[in-house]
Amino acid sequence: PPLHSQRHQFVIDFVRKKQPKKVADLGCGECKLLKQLRFQRNIELLVGVDITGAKIKKHMHRLAPLSTDHLQPTFDQLHIDLYQGSVTQRDARLRGFDLMTSIELIEHLTLPDLELFSSVVFGYMRPASVIVSTPNSEFNKLFPGLTGFRHSDHKALKVCLDYGYEVEITGVGEAPQEQQESVGFCSQIGVFQRLNVSPDRDEEEVFSYTLVYSVNYPTLR
Ligand code: SAM
Repeated sequence: PPLHSQRHQFVIDFVRKKQPKKVADLGCGECKLLKQLRFQRNIELLVGVDITGAKIKKHMHRLAPLSTDHLQPTFDQLHIDLYQGSVTQRDARLRGFDLMTSIELIEHLTLPDLELFSSVVFGYMRPASVIVSTPNSEFNKLFPGLTGFRHSDHKALKVCLDYGYEVEITGVGEAPQEQQESVGFCSQIGVFQRLNVSPDRDEEEVFSYTLVYSVNYPTLR
């Protein structure tokens, strides 16, 4: 399967395993991952954020309830919200999530914005789990201390130390065989889990995102 489906499948597999109730996709773009996530019945709140409002508006219809959702409602609850906003800015409505994903987003950020991304997501939103994917060559920008990450001590990662997370580095897509040892996967994926520590928290109530789409799925409740 193409690489982008493999990345999305990685998230779906994680969701099946961990059963998060509140999930947000940062840099949701064409809403393709959200469209797949909406079929995961454990999810009660699904949120997408993208800096390009026009992109969301063009693709948000993908998330509308289908006629089968109306004809055969279930007991499952699902609410979907889409926001125009930047991952470099805080928004209190994005706090308290079980899972946040950032698929092929951070490689588009400048280094200062990447620092803001870390402080916003790990320091302010503080979801229980975060899945970050980037093309392989861009990955080390996020983890400057981590050249040749496969042999590094993951605990040394600055973002984990600063914000109280641990990370497991994995990936999807195999590099050409002769490079596999040195190169690893085509798409690197970091799976972060929040630790049970309480570093100084940024608790300010900030609302900087604009709600562009909001839908409640029909339910029998
Ligand atoms: N995550 C999607 C996927 O896997 O197909 C889209 C990836 S696309 C390469 C990057 C997306 O990130 C674009 O939709 C872009 O508008 C969005 N983006 C870029 N900078 C952003 C920012 N600062 N905040 C939120 N979204 C951003």
